[in-house]
Amino acid sequence: MSTALPARDLVDVRLSEAIGAGGCAICGVRARSERATLDAIIAERVLDLGFREGLERDHAFCRRHAAELVVADRRAAGILGSSILYGAMIARRLAAARGAQAVRGRARRNRLADAIRRPPCAVCDQGFSGVDAALGRLVERAADPAWGPAIAAIPFCLDDLFALLAAAGDAPAMAPVTDRQLARLDDLVRRLEGYAHHSSQDRRHLMTDDERAAADEAARLLGGD
Ligand SMILES: [Zn+2]
Ligand SMILES: [Zn+2]
Repeated sequence: MSTALPARDLVDVRLSEAIGAGGCAICGVRARSERATLDAIIAERVLDLGFREGLERDHAFCRRHAAELVVADRRAAGILGSSILYGAMIARRLAAARGAQAVRGRARRNRLADAIRRPPCAVCDQGFSGVDAALGRLVERAADPAWGPAIAAIPFCLDDLFALLAAAGDAPAMAPVTDRQLARLDDLVRRLEGYAHHSSQDRRHLMTDDERAAADEAARLLGGD
């Protein structure tokens, strides 16, 4: 789905698509970037010895992305790539567990504690950099007469909204965006309180649909899209 937002380059095009898709546009950019990274790893890195050597040493997969590896693999060809990567990951962590069994007491606990601390997730890292680029671009585009109102209307999740406000700093074009976003949060709090207030038997007839929708909206606000 696309919107009519004027686009200069691929970053604009992706943002415009994420806005058109509805929901938090930054969550959309993050999900797209993570999925593209998983696909690229399956397509290009499985047989890359350097990448496999670095697994669990320089980079890793967080729990969520480890689970999604085989999903990405099935989407492409089969399960060969994920089998190879999973094998390498488990073998390396198994070696750490065996190393810990070779010593006793505090040394064993220390080795196991070290084994639990993992290198950063290669997929999440790409998601972070996609989000950074998108946040910077939104701040830049806020001054554009077509983009400004569209950005102000995005139902950002709370974490991504705060990241956007941090990226915006004192940029004057972001002031109307900030006002509208904070007003959206005020309105949501008011409706959540209204739901609670109107929940008693004698006031139930005062309950509005907007109040009934508030908890699901709050779940998306706090949990992301
Ligand atoms: Zn979000
Ligand atoms: Zn991850």
